[in-house]
Order: sequence, then C-alpha cells, then structure tokens
Amino acid sequence: ARSGHPLMASIDRRTPFLSLGDCHFGTTINIIVGSHVWIEDSAVSWTDGRVTKITGPEAEIQTTNGKTVIEKLSKIYPKDMEAPPGGVDDMTKLSYLHEPGVLQNLSARYELNEIYTYTGNILIAVNPFQRLPHLYDIHMMEQYKGAPFGELSPHVFAVADVAYRAMINEGKSNSILVSGESGAGKTETTKMLMRYLAYMGGRAATEGRTVEQQVLESNPVLEAFGNAKTVRNNNSSRFGKFVEIQFDNKGRISGAAIRTYLLERSRVCQVSDPERNYHCFYLLCAAPPEEIEKYKLGNPRSFHYLNQSNCYELAGVSDAKEYLATRRAMEIVGISAQEQDAIFRVVAAILHLGNINFAKGQEIDSSVLKDEKSKFHLKITAELLMCDPQALEDALCKRVMITPEEVIRRPLDPVAASGSRDALAKTVYSRLFDWLVDKINSSIGQDVKSKSLIGVLDIYGFESFITNSFEQFCINFTNEKLQQHFNQHVFKMEQEEYTKEEIDWSYIEFVDNQDVLDLIEKKPGGIIALLDEACMFPKSTYETFSQKLYQTFKTHKRFVKPKLSPTDFTICHYAGEVQYQSEQFLDKNKDYVVAEHQELLSASKCPFVSGLFPPLPEETSKSSKFSSIGARFKLQLQSLMEILNSTEPHYIRCVKPNNLLKPAIFENVNVMQQLRCGGVLEAIRISCAGYPTRRTFYEFLHRFGILAPEVLEGNYDEKVACGKILEKKGLKGWQMGKTKVFLRAGQMAELDARRAEVL
Ligand code: ADP
Ligand code: MG
Repeated sequence: ARSGHPLMASIDRRTPFLSLGDCHFGTTINIIVGSHVWIEDSAVSWTDGRVTKITGPEAEIQTTNGKTVIEKLSKIYPKDMEAPPGGVDDMTKLSYLHEPGVLQNLSARYELNEIYTYTGNILIAVNPFQRLPHLYDIHMMEQYKGAPFGELSPHVFAVADVAYRAMINEGKSNSILVSGESGAGKTETTKMLMRYLAYMGGRAATEGRTVEQQVLESNPVLEAFGNAKTVRNNNSSRFGKFVEIQFDNKGRISGAAIRTYLLERSRVCQVSDPERNYHCFYLLCAAPPEEIEKYKLGNPRSFHYLNQSNCYELAGVSDAKEYLATRRAMEIVGISAQEQDAIFRVVAAILHLGNINFAKGQEIDSSVLKDEKSKFHLKITAELLMCDPQALEDALCKRVMITPEEVIRRPLDPVAASGSRDALAKTVYSRLFDWLVDKINSSIGQDVKSKSLIGVLDIYGFESFITNSFEQFCINFTNEKLQQHFNQHVFKMEQEEYTKEEIDWSYIEFVDNQDVLDLIEKKPGGIIALLDEACMFPKSTYETFSQKLYQTFKTHKRFVKPKLSPTDFTICHYAGEVQYQSEQFLDKNKDYVVAEHQELLSASKCPFVSGLFPPLPEETSKSSKFSSIGARFKLQLQSLMEILNSTEPHYIRCVKPNNLLKPAIFENVNVMQQLRCGGVLEAIRISCAGYPTRRTFYEFLHRFGILAPEVLEGNYDEKVACGKILEKKGLKGWQMGKTKVFLRAGQMAELDARRAEVL
C-alpha cells in the first residue's frame, strides 16, 4: 500500500543500486559470455564471477566462490578488471561507479590500511580499530600543510587543511561535519581535526596554557564525564558536540566555544550488561587511597548504579591512570583544585545516593529507609553534598503538593521514593556536566571579535534499534536536519552552479526530507508540539499521546501506525523506517527539577553544589514547572543549523567496518548500510549524474594547454580554446558554461593521463 511513497521508492531504488545505472559514464555496458561481473549475494552483499551463458534476459554466472548462479541481466554489474588492485583514492575515479565497485574499492584499500577515501569532496574514513601512529604524527601534518586538496593520499588532515586555507584566503567560516554510527570513529576523527587546527593555528609555546592546548585537553575532561562503554563502542560519547574554534586575522587560534547536545541522563542510574556507567565513576573508585578514604568509596561492585552490569574494567585501560590524567586535563582547562574536589565529591555522592533503598513505612503508601546500610549511605550522601540529612530523606520520601486550598506533604511509596532518588541523581549529574562545559568555555574564552571560525561537529548518527525511544527520536531528528543540510549543499549547490553557468542538464530528482522535518518539528501540530501538549495535560498518558498522533497523521506519508502495536509509531526517515515505542516519551521529555530537590541543594553549604542549583525566579518556580527537552533540543538544533548555514561545510563520513570492533575485518553488508544512511551513495549519484569536475577556462588552459600548443598559439578566445582542446582529445559529453568547463566523471583523469604522456 505504501509503494507510492517517495522515500520508499528511493530506498527501493537504492537497494540494488539501480540509481547509479546512469553513472557508467553514459556508455552502454554490454554483458557477454566471458564478462567479469558482480552479482548480488545476500550473505556478502556482492560476489564476483564470470558469465558462462546468456539465455534471453538472464545469464548464468560461475562465481569465484564456486557457485553457479542464474541472474537477470538487469541485476548484473560489470566488474572493472583494469581497476588497480589497491583501489583508487577517489570514488569518482572508478571507471564503473556502482555499489559493488564502491564496496570493493573501500575494502581493497582497507586491507592495505588505507582507511581514507574521497568521494569528490566527501572524506570516507573506515575505522582501523588499531593505532596507526605514523598516520597522525607531526611529519604527516607537515606534509599536508598547504598541499592542494587531492594531491596527497586522502586524510583528515587534508580536510582540515582545506577548511583552514579557505578560511584564511576567503575570510569565510568553515565547518567540518563528522558523522557515522556509534563506534565508527567520529570522536577520534574530531580529535585529529582539532590537533591539526591547533598545529596550524597555534602560537609558539609560551608559558602557561594556550587556547589550543585547552581546546585539546577539553576532550579528556568531557570524555571522562560524558563517555561510557556501550555495546557498540568502548568509549562512546553520550552527547553531541560542536566545537567552534575562533581565529584572529592572522589565522591564529584566538578562542573557542564548545556546545554540547543532549547528554544521555538515564545511564546515570541504569546500566545493563555489558555496558558501563560514565567513566568518571570508575575512575574515582580507582583514585589514590587518600581520596577513596575522603569520599568513602571502595569497590565499584558495591554501588547499585554500577553493579547492575557486570562490566567494571575496560581492556587496555587503567582507570587509576585515567583518573590522574583527567585531573591533569581539568587543571589545564582551568578547573581549580578546589573545584575538582567538589566535582568528585558530587560524583561520589551520586554513587552513595544510589545505594539508598526504601521500605514500606507505617502510614499507607509511605516509605522509610530500608536498612542500616541505607541510613549509612544517606548520611554520607548528605555529608558529601553538604546538606541536611533529614532534609535529604524528606526530599526523597515525600512530595509537597500545592493545592489552591493548602500545602500538603504527601508521602511517597517505596517505588516512588526510588524514582525520586534516581531523578535526583540524574539532575545532579546533568547539572554537573553542564557546569563543566560552561567552565571550559569561560576559561578558554571566546573571541567575540573573530570573524572566521572553524566548527567541528561530532554528533550521533542515525539509530534504529529493536526498541527505539525518545533518545532515538531526537537523534534521528538531528540526522534528518543534517541530511537536509547535506542534500541542500551537495545538490542545490550543484544545481545552482549549473543554472548560473547556464549549462543544460537534466535535473536529477532528489529526495527532499522537508516533509519528515515538518512531521517532527512543525509548530503547531508536529510530533514535538503534540508531545509537549501531552506533557502539560495531567491526564495524558503515552496511550492518549499515541492516539493523538494516529489521528493527526492518519494520512501523513512519513507516518505509519504499526499493525501489531497499539501505541508504537513509525517514522519513515530518509535512512529507513524506525518504529518508536512511546511508553517513556512523556517522562523523558519532561525536564523539571522536583521543587524539593531544588530547595535541598540550593541550600547546600557547599558553594559548588548550591551553584548548580541557582534559585528559580519567583513565578516560574510555581507555575510552569514543566520545560520540554524536545522543544529545547529543537531550538538548539535550529541555532546549530544557523551557524552551519553561515559556513562552508566539509563532510567526513565515518564507517564502522565490523561490529566486533576488531581490525582487518570488513563486513560488506554492514558497510553498505552505513554508506546509504550517510548519504554517501546519494552524493555519488548526484555528482556522477552531473559534471563532477569543473575548471575555469583559465585553469583549464593552464593545465591542459600543453595538450594542444597550436590552440594556445591560435589566439582564440579562452572558451573556444578549451573546446578545441577537448575536441582534439576526442572527449564527449562535456559542457561549456559561462566561465567554466564542465567535465563528466572520469574525464579529468583521462586528460591528466594524456598530459602525463606529454610531460
Ligand atoms: P564514535 O565517536 O564514532 O562513536 P570513536 O571515535 O569513539 O567512535 O571510535 C571508537 C574506537 O575506534 C576508538 O576508541 C578507537 O579505538 C577506534 N578508532 C576510531 N578511529 C580510529 C583511528 N583513526 N585510528 C585508530 N583507532 C581508531
Ligand atoms: Mg564519539
């Protein structure tokens, strides 16, 4: 029934990669007996073989893995036997640009530890899962400094260099957008980019801390508090990050600002095997003995917030060493010893807080501390947070209800009290994280006068799991936004250029995702707006919320009510359909601090703790306790998009070659899926279908005039001269714009080859 859906159609089209059919450079490819070909193979994505027989629309193929297969001619792709065995460094150089060709190229390169490959301007980075030290050393940076893009092997440094140079030469801000699924290498890539920019824009070592040093050292600090081991990545960032590096007019780093997005809060009190809680908890448990004593810590196995999972250690990582390294990094980013002490006191307090349990009290539906152990941990928590232990107990076990008539202190049952405890832990932790980000920002300092910046975005990629909740919804919303930005950039820029140059080309349709964005963020009436409404109505439940969605989007092309669930909903994202479970949506969208918690901690005798809970303005404390995470996230994204739109973007797509997180394993099916989600195939399609290479007449003559000296001497108009050279070399399909020559994919390579013969 949904076959007419534009997105689905495009996905269907992408599956057998028919969309690249027009990318064989306009030549018809004849498959004959004896041809080397690629055919689809569900297990390994593609397998190669040789055609042994052709009968009507079908061919018999003898595959290299020993099978005989019958396949439709339309599903057979020619294999380029001339392709260099080590692959090509830019996909647009492939003579047959189709799905198996792209995969083969990446995997051939990966085998040689060539982890970087261009697709035009996009850099694809395949995670090596092993240290490749020479790849990132100072000599390497030296080499990429100022080298024309594409001249050296593909590298993150080359992308950073282009961005830096564009900024210096044109005074324009640039951004580098790093994307990919969890564990694909985004954060590592970001760190390399920042290293290179610090190298280019750094000053000679002066005493004290330099801005670039602080920018680099902000990584370990944020990672200690915002990263955790997950199934997908041992050091997974549980927040999005945009680092804006500001430069002065001499190209030196003069300031920086770090923005973070949506830290995963639930992890603080809920972890499941084989994952871990945030690194900082384990680091602190491995601190030197005097600190363990001070914070009354001990074995991480004794803390409820850690022992829900059986994983405590990370292979190859010493928490004790990391603790000291984190302390050093904190010092470099300007966090004083006193502040550090307070920070770790709060971290320890959260661990103790988690060990407070509740039992039924004497009153109906009330609760009391469960046992001596709980009393002990309550006492320690109160000491560490420097607040009154009785007030802490009340804040956990009771809730103040304000009715028009009176103020009632209502008891909470043990389940609700545990919920209150966890809410407190999450609130304190997320306030602590925000404090760290603010502190780093104020100590690095912003250069408000700076006109040129380079922004580096490291943000979670598209997610589709067996169960998908509010977090996935926000993450996928982000990715829709970024995908639109990407499409607009790759496609519209392309189109605009063609139009400006008045060259004729058949406009390729492209999948616009504005309709998904409207579905999610339109005000009023989008999913986020409806969710906020539901959160404000005391009687709403996830069931009524889902009903409202079904009603509102009954005919929306991107929205589906799944047949087998009464409350799930499915969104047709650009990268595929995702079915969301609405159960936790309301709770997770609500961001209010329980008044009792606010009161308790703002009264703390520790200025650091009370500073995390500044008093609320009078009117907001009573009336609108609810603030929407979804709506706030939407605003954050809007402002991010505004910044990105004012910059020249560069894209890096990180790919995770296997789920075992091991080197040298390249899983075709897995990689293909990621290339699709990252829009890499779409970009190849867009650029191949048009004229991926363009040069001004002057540039073209400068480079290829040598191919026809007689033309240069002929005193022709530049444009005419370019045409004559192209005709002389027998190239077809190119076009002349008003100021530039537009070449089909592969033609530049051909001209270069001729040029090399002459030189
Ligand atoms: P993401 O941020 O995309 O979730 P990370 O950048 O944290 O992923 O990378 C996950 C892991 O993969 C890293 O901890 C590291 O072990 C490995 N890794 C990623 N990129 C590289 C690289 N360029 N060189 C060596 N190892 C890498
Ligand atoms: Mg990361």
